[in-house]
Amino acid sequence: MKKSMLPDYKLIEIQILASGDILQIPVYTFQGKKEGKKVYIQANLHGAEIVGNAVIYELIEFFSTLNNEDINGEIILVPMCNPIGVNQRNLFFSTGRYSPYDGLNWNRIFWDYSHENINIDDFVRENMNFSKQDIQANFFDNILNKFQEKQNNINHRRGVSFSEHYRNILQSLSLSANYIIDIHSSSVSSIDYLYCFDYRQKSADYFLLDYAILMNKYDGNAFDEAFLNPWLILEKKLSQAGRNLIFDVESWTLELGSGMRVNEESVKKGFKGIINYLSAKKILNLEVVLPEKSTKFIPKNTIKSYYAIQGGIIRHRLKEGTKVKEGDMLYQILSFSKGSKMPFIIDIESADEGIIFDVSTNDTVNQGEYILGIFPHV
Ligand SMILES: [Zn+2]
Repeated sequence: MKKSMLPDYKLIEIQILASGDILQIPVYTFQGKKEGKKVYIQANLHGAEIVGNAVIYELIEFFSTLNNEDINGEIILVPMCNPIGVNQRNLFFSTGRYSPYDGLNWNRIFWDYSHENINIDDFVRENMNFSKQDIQANFFDNILNKFQEKQNNINHRRGVSFSEHYRNILQSLSLSANYIIDIHSSSVSSIDYLYCFDYRQKSADYFLLDYAILMNKYDGNAFDEAFLNPWLILEKKLSQAGRNLIFDVESWTLELGSGMRVNEESVKKGFKGIINYLSAKKILNLEVVLPEKSTKFIPKNTIKSYYAIQGGIIRHRLKEGTKVKEGDMLYQILSFSKGSKMPFIIDIESADEGIIFDVSTNDTVNQGEYILGIFPHV
């Protein structure tokens, strides 16, 4: 394809290592001719979840064929956003889910404005009668000012922990965006889906994925939550005060394919969904596809997890996406349990009716390890 528009490319230093090497993250920015909204897309926050890098590559290739009149606003893309996680290994296996420094999940370290000592009730009182656009702009200012204030208060002699330093870099790129998209993969083997927050269900359809998990409780400092949570609180408080507004601010986590693998179907789905979403949000001047079927929402607390009732070798496990009824055989455990004269097999039947959502990738388990998840028909 002919390239007509090259992105602005820069590298941001995230860590100077003991050896003197420097870890950096690449940032690609496509700037439209017309001013407009901003979207931030990142991939590979968890080290094993590499599919999103291929999606971002396809997006960069595609945007490069456009003219700057085809883009309204700004698109920022950050593949390989966590080089420490990406490069981490145990034998051949990518681990990279937890920071080696403090043990925190890399996706539970982010700064949430609403956790600061701030009073959103005061903001609501002062802004109550302004236009939606003005309220949005003022709240954005408050978030960004608070973030900047925190940056300015970093004592350069004392420094900050790596988690804090790293999150500050990703959030300085993303906090002023209207839309953020964080591309992950299942750490087991799963159908493709996305996470959706309440009051943003209408937009989920544009990603053209069959299923979304509806977040019904705050999980804690994930990238998508830390971004949107203050806005959800503001909307709730405004609504209690009699003003029903949904701001033009959204945050999405896509879960595409499985860890350590690049499933090309998942890459295609991710690419197509993001292009369609950006078109629906008028960042791209392209036709919007409406899905044949609406996205089905699965409340997070309805997913039933199955754990090994004893250790052994898993056999005949059903695959993700399989429909099951109560009593169907889900999998077997082959056991060479000590003290039993003969090895034996235990059949595990489903206690639920629904669809197998994900399955673990290791066919050997200790008691209590995760085997699979089932969500009800929706
Ligand atoms: Zn992840």
